[in-house]
Amino acid sequence: MNSPPVYLDYAATTPVDPAVAAVMSGCLTASGTFGNAASIHPYGAAAAACIAAARQQVAALIGATADEIVFTSGATESNNLAILGCARANADRGRHLVSVRTEHKSVLDAARRLEREGFTVTWLTPGASGVVEPAAVAAALRPDTVLASVMCANNETGVLQDLAAIAAVCRERRVAFHSDAAQAAGKVPLDVHALGLDFLSFTAHKLCGPKGVGALYVRRGTRALLQPLTFGGGQERALRPGTLPTHQLAGFGAACEIALHELAPEAARLTRLRERLWARLAALGGTHLNGAGAPRVPGILNVSFEGVEGESLVAGLPGLALSTGAACNSDSSEPSYVLRALGRNRQLAESSLRFSFGRFTREADIDFAISAVGHQVARLRGFSPGAPRGPEGDLPDAWARETAGGAARIVNGEGGGQGQDSWVRFELLVAGDIVKDARFKAFGCPHTMDTAAWVCGRLNGRARAALICDTPQDWAQARDVPIEKLGRLFAIEDALRACLAQWA
Ligand SMILES: *Cc1c(COP(=O)(O)O)cnc(C)c1O
Repeated sequence: MNSPPVYLDYAATTPVDPAVAAVMSGCLTASGTFGNAASIHPYGAAAAACIAAARQQVAALIGATADEIVFTSGATESNNLAILGCARANADRGRHLVSVRTEHKSVLDAARRLEREGFTVTWLTPGASGVVEPAAVAAALRPDTVLASVMCANNETGVLQDLAAIAAVCRERRVAFHSDAAQAAGKVPLDVHALGLDFLSFTAHKLCGPKGVGALYVRRGTRALLQPLTFGGGQERALRPGTLPTHQLAGFGAACEIALHELAPEAARLTRLRERLWARLAALGGTHLNGAGAPRVPGILNVSFEGVEGESLVAGLPGLALSTGAACNSDSSEPSYVLRALGRNRQLAESSLRFSFGRFTREADIDFAISAVGHQVARLRGFSPGAPRGPEGDLPDAWARETAGGAARIVNGEGGGQGQDSWVRFELLVAGDIVKDARFKAFGCPHTMDTAAWVCGRLNGRARAALICDTPQDWAQARDVPIEKLGRLFAIEDALRACLAQWA
């Protein structure tokens, strides 16, 4: 019964392909290729040969040559090396950079670090579909611009940028161009020479390789545009010194080879899964595809849901391991900055789900997600042990009978606002001075939903004078609501007060 959740978070990380794991374990023990590639004896030579082969495999994935690959610990380090390394090395030529608000944190934070060092960054905002117009990049370039950095595929929406066009703009203005391709490498064809890129970051663990290893492509002839962040043994053309981790690199190489070999059929298969998922979610109504209209990577689908609150949505999906734009998912109190930059309002940014899938995802996993999400969205939109009538809702038979006979009537009231963090509506069947039945509908975090349900369940039999006989503080204590969420419970109290006002 308690099977682990279906993994739909490939954009966060992927499981290592068993074939990759086998290659890696051949580089660890005494009988394997464990040597230091810098050593002059046969153990060193074996490691060096293994690494040379891996470098070829990694380069082939992006159409580079082996000497253009600098191994790093991952895309975060590659982004830092490209951005900090290029800006600092060229500070005497200019102190201006161009980048985009929807970049990964490792680009945003590296560029922000440069702002504190006296550089200026022009932050572009993409259009509503998530695409950055090459003309907008061109307009942002200045005579003192030393680097433009625009990601290839966005990690939240999967939206792809037109790298060839942006690279052409940069080349014409003699500005170095870097792209973070962590979500694109191995998913869509990439040819760095044809695209005209100077620097490209990618990482093994997004393509069924191990965590902790990645690469920066440094176009031949642009090494001088970079300065290292660390100093030591001179490895990786002194851009990234340190003993090379043979097992990591061999695994990265094997992962790249498999990804390249399977790229076309996998792209077709994952696109079919993505389209199936979207068609069924769109049929729920009130759903918004984030990145609609833009070219996107096959394995990411990001959808916002109207009329449901993000934390409640995710809390109700324990069978799925995925990411959300809700603030509860991050260390900030703001929902997804990526979706906000695309113009989504707070509610839609909060109520977004990122489904990301890959090599080991099967159609049955997608179908499971479709049914789980459909069920949970319907539940939240019509929440209540008997949701109050919306314009379309039906009155329960018992309520209809009692009110038709004149023995009882219905009062209702709302609190909070639908644009706010919480909204609650109660509907009470009252006879004289007594509540005979109660229903509610709510929008809010799991605490709001739980407390509204609990309060509603205790209303039956109450006299009018005792309708609000306890306080939000009492409810919070009874339902273990954290103090910072207390404010959301006032919507419940307001809804009851509004009922009282009608129940004169
Ligand atoms: C995952 C990711 C990174 C970070 O890669 P690491 O190898 O984990 O450092 C950077 N950029 C994007 C777009 C990513 O998706």
